[in-house]
Amino acid sequence: MTIAIIGAGIAGAACAARLTQQGHQVVVFDKGRSAGGRMSSKRTEQGYLDLGAQYFTARSEAFRAQCAKWLQAGTISRWNGRLAVFDDSGLHPSPDNTARYIGQPAMQAPVVQLLGNISLHCNCPVDQLQFDGNHWQLFSKGIALGSFSQLVLAIPQQQARQLLQPFLPQSARLTTLFAATALLPCWAVNIQLEQPLLPYDAVFVKNHSISWLARQASKSGRCSAEHWLLHFSPAFSAQHLEASTEAIAEQAVIALQQISGQPINAVTTLCHRWRYAQQAPQYPVSGAVYLPDLALGLAGDWLNGGRVENAWLSGVQLAAELVL
Ligand SMILES: Cc1cc2nc3c(=O)[nH]c(=O)nc-3n(C[C@H](O)[C@H](O)[C@H](O)COP(=O)(O)OP(=O)(O)OC[C@H]3O[C@@H](n4cnc5c(N)ncnc54)[C@H](O)[C@@H]3O)c2cc1C
Repeated sequence: MTIAIIGAGIAGAACAARLTQQGHQVVVFDKGRSAGGRMSSKRTEQGYLDLGAQYFTARSEAFRAQCAKWLQAGTISRWNGRLAVFDDSGLHPSPDNTARYIGQPAMQAPVVQLLGNISLHCNCPVDQLQFDGNHWQLFSKGIALGSFSQLVLAIPQQQARQLLQPFLPQSARLTTLFAATALLPCWAVNIQLEQPLLPYDAVFVKNHSISWLARQASKSGRCSAEHWLLHFSPAFSAQHLEASTEAIAEQAVIALQQISGQPINAVTTLCHRWRYAQQAPQYPVSGAVYLPDLALGLAGDWLNGGRVENAWLSGVQLAAELVL
């Protein structure tokens, strides 16, 4: 089988790796500059900054086994951040001691490892699909990318819906998958400070416009200066999705001041808007979806409950279903 995979995030990479192991010819396309998707750390002159996925956990047997291999190879490391909670009673240490992992030296390292020597085309937004009943043709900006016997979409729900719009009348299943919104937005702001801020490395923030704070330097491989990353809550992010980066940065500084109880002098701020970030809690879990009549598979966190681990599991599940 020749299989095209659109999306070089962890789901697409996991699917590609399994299919390649089974001897299939796989080609991966991604619109980004490199593989990683929402696990991509941003490279700056001062080092990497994690703006998307912050860490991942391993709850399933299968993903724990995969993490053990990555740990041994140095692709990931354990992150032993000092965690706190900020809630109505203020800031206090968190008793949560779940094992948390980060890619080394950047979050996308496991994705890069999975893709290995698999044919990967970056800077390649797939914007048109044709299916003749046997083969898929892919196009990017009017240029044909090739003909494939199977197609995998490992991209966020809303982007998959856009690409598959012409095929929705042929599949009630697709229509159902796209009926409700699976992924919610997130504004991320990185604030560089001159002084250390808190005796913690990360804070779970409750009942606030902010949901998470983390000190980049607590993660090996990242910027060693005092950089704090803030994630705004899905509700705030949705409400202010089209706000200017200046307005969002200003809100982030105010929030950091409130949570830390200290005046904040930001040396620099960097905002990133994730339109499709994390799972809407009510969206149903289906693992992965394979539609044999359309020779089409879908994988990704949004089909499997969100998070890195579930995205990986979704890609692995789809690979197994594709070659049954
Ligand atoms: C702000 C934020 C914080 C998060 N925090 C955590 C966390 O702490 N722990 C955790 O486990 N998870 C976290 N997540 C979620 C985690 O990042 C995702 O669950 C996981 O990375 C999703 O992987 P994926 O492969 O399904 O999708 P993605 O990583 O989104 O990969 C999809 C890829 O498809 C590409 N693409 C899309 N459309 C096209 C197209 N038309 N043509 C070509 N390429 C295309 C994109 O460029 C992207 O590379 C966070 C996410 C965000 C955004």
